[in-house]
Amino acid sequence: MIKREKNNERLERKQNKIDAGLLSDLYPNMNSIVIKMNYYHKHSDASYMQRTINFYPQSAAYFHMECMKSECTNGGFDLGPAISKMAKKRLTSDNGEMQCRGNGGPGHVRIDYDIAIKYSKK
Ligand SMILES: [Zn+2]
Repeated sequence: MIKREKNNERLERKQNKIDAGLLSDLYPNMNSIVIKMNYYHKHSDASYMQRTINFYPQSAAYFHMECMKSECTNGGFDLGPAISKMAKKRLTSDNGEMQCRGNGGPGHVRIDYDIAIKYSKK
């Protein structure tokens, strides 16, 4: 059952990515975004996984990061609001923390993130 939900979610992500459009459409003034994330288990200060994700003008403007816990559905981390906040102020770097609100259990995974944006000169 869980496997099936996960598969549905995967398909949904694919569609969401397509629906999101391109970074160049959403933020024409951005040359690149680099998102670095550390993943932590609940009650642990040692990160068990690091991810770095790069976005370019031709990338899908889809900033919903997966939870990565295999049993967790409807989870993940939406960095879209953080990026839109940065875009408004034209910030080049920002960081923060977020907890997964999926059904893998409350606070089962958290991340801290670091976002770096390069803007075009225009
Ligand atoms: Zn989760």
